[in-house]
Amino acid sequence: MPWDESPCPYCGGRVINVSNAVIYNGHTFGNGRCYLCVNCRASCGVHGNPATRRPLGVLATPEMKFFKQSCHKKFDSVWRNNKLSRNQCYKQLAKLMGICPKCCHFGWFNQPDLELANAILSDESWYKR
Ligand SMILES: [Zn+2]
Repeated sequence: MPWDESPCPYCGGRVINVSNAVIYNGHTFGNGRCYLCVNCRASCGVHGNPATRRPLGVLATPEMKFFKQSCHKKFDSVWRNNKLSRNQCYKQLAKLMGICPKCCHFGWFNQPDLELANAILSDESWYKR
């Protein structure tokens, strides 16, 4: 079954591949496509070439998006300020979360993962531990 024919994992609603203008107040971003649950409006982006219809991550609910933004703010400031490379940041976070570095990507985290990552990143010295 193609990914975009699976029901929403949160509410069982129908998931459709649509223009991402529907989630960005009428403006399109990137390749212009996203997946959207027509019921609870959980959504996620689509990889590079939209023809592949490959999702960029898991469907995110508004609450997950809130945690994701919070995580990124703390995480990105570390590599942007050259305290560690971006790659080292992912490795360090994976170590602290007890997951494999290859699985360490905010786009693939579920709600508990995001809450755990957010708690870890709330410690300002997380990247030194
Ligand atoms: Zn849904």
